[in-house]
Amino acid sequence: MSEEKQETRGLVIVYTGHGKGKTTAALGMCIRAAGYKKKIKIIQFIKGTWKYGEMDGIKLLEPYVEMEQRGKGFVGIVDDKEDISTHIRAAEEALQYSREAMNSGQYDHLILDEINVAINLKLIKVEDVVQLIQEKPEQLHLILTGRDAPQEIIDIADLVTEMREIKHPFQKGILAQQGVDY
Ligand code: ATP
Ligand code: MG
Repeated sequence: MSEEKQETRGLVIVYTGHGKGKTTAALGMCIRAAGYKKKIKIIQFIKGTWKYGEMDGIKLLEPYVEMEQRGKGFVGIVDDKEDISTHIRAAEEALQYSREAMNSGQYDHLILDEINVAINLKLIKVEDVVQLIQEKPEQLHLILTGRDAPQEIIDIADLVTEMREIKHPFQKGILAQQGVDY
C-alpha cells in the first residue's frame, strides 16, 4: 500500500437550519482542533453577551481558542434598546475584524458565529461575506453558523449541514438548561 501524503486544505463549513446544534457543532470542532494545538478564533456576531458556560469553557482551551463578542445584543426584540444603526455599525466592524483575523496568519480555524443571522437582518451584505470567503487563505478553515444561510454562501461552501428540528424541549415549555443551552 503506498503511503500518500495527506492533503491539507482549508474548508468553508456552514452550520445552518432551524434545529439546535449549530453553535454547539462549531464549539465541538474547537475541542478537536485544540487537541492538535491548532489556533482557533471565534467571533460572535449579533449577541453581545456570550453565555457563561461556553465563555468559561473556552477559557479552559486557552491559548488555543480565543473568543470575541462583537454584537450589540439581540436585534429587534422587546428589550433591544439600541438603534438599528448601532447594530449595523457593530456588525460591519465585526466583519472588518473578521477579515483582519482571517488574514493575520495567526489562526488555523476562524468561526463566525451567527453571521448568517446578521446577513438576514441586513446588518451586513451577503456580497461582502461572499468576498471574504473568496479571499480566504488556502489553509484556513472558515466556519459560518446561523439559521437560513443565504444560497450564495451555500453555493461556495465545501461542507453544509442543516440542523433540522425534530423535537425541542421548548415546544413543551421546558426552558433552557445549564450546560445544554448555555
Ligand atoms: P446551540 O447554541 O445550542 O448550538 P444553535 O446555535 O443551533 O443552538 P441558535 O439559533 O444560535 O441555535 O439559538 C441559540 C439558543 O436558542 C440556544 O439556547 C438553543 O437551545 C435555543 N434554540 C436553538 N434551536 C432552538 C429551537 N429549534 N427551538 C427553541 N430553542 C432553540
Ligand atoms: Mg447559535
